[in-house]
Amino acid sequence: MIHCPNCGSRGVRKSKAVYEQGISTGSYRSGSTYTSSRGRVGFRSSSGTSRRISAVAERNAPPQNDLPGKVGTAVWISITVLGTISNAGFLGSLGVGFVVALIAAAITAGKTSAAFNAKLADYDRTWYCRQCGDQFLI
Ligand SMILES: [Zn+2]
Repeated sequence: MIHCPNCGSRGVRKSKAVYEQGISTGSYRSGSTYTSSRGRVGFRSSSGTSRRISAVAERNAPPQNDLPGKVGTAVWISITVLGTISNAGFLGSLGVGFVVALIAAAITAGKTSAAFNAKLADYDRTWYCRQCGDQFLI
C-alpha cells in the first residue's frame, strides 16, 4: 500500500488521475425574460458548454513544453520590428520573420525534447497526497 512520505496518509492518488477527475465539462442552459420596446414580454434562452478545472487539478496538470512557442514568437517579433525600422518593409519582414521563427522554434523543440520527455516520465510517476497536498515520485 502506497502512503504519503510526508504525513503517512494513505489518501494518495496519481497526479494524472487527480488531474483528469478535476476537469469537469458540462453544458448549461439559462433563460431570462425580457420586455421589448413595444411592451411585449418574451423569453430568451441561451446554452453552451463550460470547462472547469479545480485548483487541485491545476496543481497536478501535466507538464507543457511552451519554450519553442515563446522563442518562436520572440524571434518573429524581433525580426519584424528590426526589419520595419531598417526600411526593409513591414510585410516582407513579417514573412521572413515567420520562416525564421519556425526554424528557431523547431531547433528549440529539438534541444528541449530530452528534458521535456524526462519531465513527462516523472509526471507518470507523480503521486498526490490529498491529506497534506504533497507531491512525490514513486
Ligand atoms: Zn501527506
